[in-house]
Amino acid sequence: MHHEGQAMSDTIFSKIIRREIPAEIVYENDEVLAFRDLNPQAPVHVLFIPKRPLATLNDATASDAELLGHLLLATADYAKREGFAEQGYRTVINCNEDGGQTVFHLHVHLLAGRRLHWPPG
Ligand code: 5GP
Repeated sequence: MHHEGQAMSDTIFSKIIRREIPAEIVYENDEVLAFRDLNPQAPVHVLFIPKRPLATLNDATASDAELLGHLLLATADYAKREGFAEQGYRTVINCNEDGGQTVFHLHVHLLAGRRLHWPPG
């Protein structure tokens, strides 16, 4: 499967970064943007995306190590700021078809606000 075209041009998430379509943005820094998932699977369901797009986790290389770090640090920073870090939360990266990925702009799901099941389906 080839997603390079999408990665270089556009997904719905690039449009959110450019403020071309609305989203409930809850966190932003130089590298990362976070907004509420349109179809939440938990009381808190936020997507953290790098402003510089990668289609999937597979597309990350050593030169993206800092970007990946920023993505996870932003997630934990937000969880602590919002006060549910102690209670707990889950981060998920879906990759490609069997992983359930539907938007080919790398994103970390942050799920919180209820007791989450394990293993996920
Ligand atoms: P994936 O399945 O690729 O891991 O996750 C994509 C997520 O993006 C899904 O949970 C879906 O609900 C969410 N999503 C898709 N389109 C939009 C949108 O236009 N706005 C927002 N806020 N979330 C979206």
